[in-house]
Amino acid sequence: MRESRFKRICVFCGSSSGRKRSYQDAAIELGNELVSRNIDLVYGGGSIGLMGLVSQAVYDGGRHVTGVIPKTLMHREISGVTVGEVMPVADMHQRKAEMARQSDAFIALPGGYGTLEELLEVITWAQLGIHNKPVGLLNVDGYYNSLLTFIDKAVEEGFISLSARHIIVLAPTAKELMEKLEEYMPYHDRVASKLNWDVDRPRRSF
Ligand code: AMP
Repeated sequence: MRESRFKRICVFCGSSSGRKRSYQDAAIELGNELVSRNIDLVYGGGSIGLMGLVSQAVYDGGRHVTGVIPKTLMHREISGVTVGEVMPVADMHQRKAEMARQSDAFIALPGGYGTLEELLEVITWAQLGIHNKPVGLLNVDGYYNSLLTFIDKAVEEGFISLSARHIIVLAPTAKELMEKLEEYMPYHDRVASKLNWDVDRPRRSF
């Protein structure tokens, strides 16, 4: 296999395991696929749900794992134990910025509100031109079909441009997704390509 263009990929996924075995298998498969391509993992830390499965697979495969976790979620009862390196951050906002900064691409597995929020934020940042890192969606067993239908509706109704629709790289398996991400060409129709997440804190004037 040729060398991957990615050194580190950030994975967003459920802090629950989901009802179907296929979701859990997909998390492990994605972890193994990263290992086979010599890619390290950045994720939200902890050992719960799909987050635990993907991180354990990457760690067991000998790749580096970084868990970026807000101090308030660091308690073992909330998130379990993080394998590999733990990077404590002040809050959820800093966590997302840090996960994004450290990674060369993003992948979302099935998950709930947290996963959706993280996925939609990196898509929005790509749309604005804050980054041009690929965003992959692993549509295991059609889990995201209704979200994709909604996004198509938003395109049809004029709220999402067709080019922004193509920010999402979609595949049903980890292997196919990684192949597509390796080929991905960044999207160019951005509104604010000078934006950056390293913005200064807003200052109050009195
Ligand atoms: P959810 O999809 O709602 O289960 O949320 C999962 C996403 O939100 C992950 O990608 C994490 O970054 C973050 N997250 C939610 N709950 C936790 C938790 N208890 N410990 C660590 N990260 C979490």
